[in-house]
Amino acid sequence: MDPFADTLRRLREAFSAGRTRPAEFRAAQLRGLGRFLQEHKQLLQEALAQDLHKATQLDSAFIRKEPFGLVLVIAPWNYPVNLTLVPLVGALAAGNCVVLKPSEFSRSTEKVLAEVLPRYLDQSCFAVVLGGPQEMGQLLEHKFDYIFFTGSPRVGRIVMSAAAKHLTPVTLELGGKNPCYVDDDCDPQTVANRLAWFRYFNTGQTCVAPDYVLCSPATQERLLPALQSAITRFYGEDPRSSLNLGRIVSDKHFQRLRGLLGCGRVAIGGQSDESERYIAPTVLVDVEETEPVMQEEIFGPILPIVNVRSLDEAIDFINRREKPLALYAFSNSKQVVKRVLAQTSSGSFCGNDGFMHLTLASLPFGGVGASGMGSYHGKFSFDTFSHHRACLLRCPGMEKIYSIRYPPYSPRKLRVL
Ligand code: NAD
Repeated sequence: MDPFADTLRRLREAFSAGRTRPAEFRAAQLRGLGRFLQEHKQLLQEALAQDLHKATQLDSAFIRKEPFGLVLVIAPWNYPVNLTLVPLVGALAAGNCVVLKPSEFSRSTEKVLAEVLPRYLDQSCFAVVLGGPQEMGQLLEHKFDYIFFTGSPRVGRIVMSAAAKHLTPVTLELGGKNPCYVDDDCDPQTVANRLAWFRYFNTGQTCVAPDYVLCSPATQERLLPALQSAITRFYGEDPRSSLNLGRIVSDKHFQRLRGLLGCGRVAIGGQSDESERYIAPTVLVDVEETEPVMQEEIFGPILPIVNVRSLDEAIDFINRREKPLALYAFSNSKQVVKRVLAQTSSGSFCGNDGFMHLTLASLPFGGVGASGMGSYHGKFSFDTFSHHRACLLRCPGMEKIYSIRYPPYSPRKLRVL
């Protein structure tokens, strides 16, 4: 018999039903809490006295942002300069010493970062380390004061377990499957332009790229020719010869992606060439939820379309899966976009466009649930790499006033406290 199961189920059901979200609900709960404290002050004081013999009074306070100490930044290969240097800026700005670990898959960038970058920084406070999983296992046995990891959820778990041994705090910038809902009320060509741009950008090897589209069969019919038109305009009749389309990073990733081309039915593209690690911008339809392309993060130029009959069904589909890093909704109706936003959860959200939200330094960037924890960019990077130390400074005098808190607690003292 699990004594907690019923309570936890009840609270989860209330949360899923959206009970705690309306502002009025939150205000009412806080007012209730305030009333409880007011109406039962005496009861609480008696309870505190019995439990701890205690009463407290605070002066003014401030937060001092301090560097954690020795920070490890681990980066992936897909934006190998950006995803190493942007976190590094935050870590250095906050005053930390930094160990930087670029990805072994982006070999040339790794080399430049290891050989050239240290010349520009104080090497007594900064180091680049190299290696793959084996070396990383060794590195992670050491104690760091903070670990900032960008990469896959699988390796994120390994990093977090290693960090837990030292109680080291972590930021995990992970990936996953980012849904993109396309409403019937939309201009298909505008949506297709934006979708094709941000799905095939960097050959689909972008953590915030839309991983799959949810739309009705009717919208799919309007979207397919529009997507074909956008792909042809962007990459020409023969995308393989386009200078604007990259290649898959490694043979291993190419083989995995080529396997995914067998899911559903190819509606656009589908060609591949192993010798160049080339995969054409591809759209898949008639895809089953159980097929690999809907089970794993795609991270390549393949876009499956999954049919839903209504907005409710799309929201339900999204909520049955892990919380994504980014979520997109296209609609001419503000209400529809706002409903998707209000009834789902994701690291970030963008209505009617691709990953433009990433470019705003005023917004934090990060995941939630399985897509990660913590965030950075702009000022948020500084805060991420700083310990927020709570401080209270009191005056060495005024002992007469302060002495009221010392025991013994006479009824008169308790009235004042
Ligand atoms: P990955 O997890 O394989 O590797 C990331 C880093 O971890 C690399 O430096 C790698 O050397 C290191 N690593 C590999 N095995 C390790 C181990 N056993 N122990 C410790 N470290 C290890 O990821 P990847 O293939 O380089 O990048 C793709 C993934 O990253 C995708 O899932 C993508 O969504 C995600 N990603 C997320 C963001 C984000 O900002 N949230 C950005 C880019 C990529």
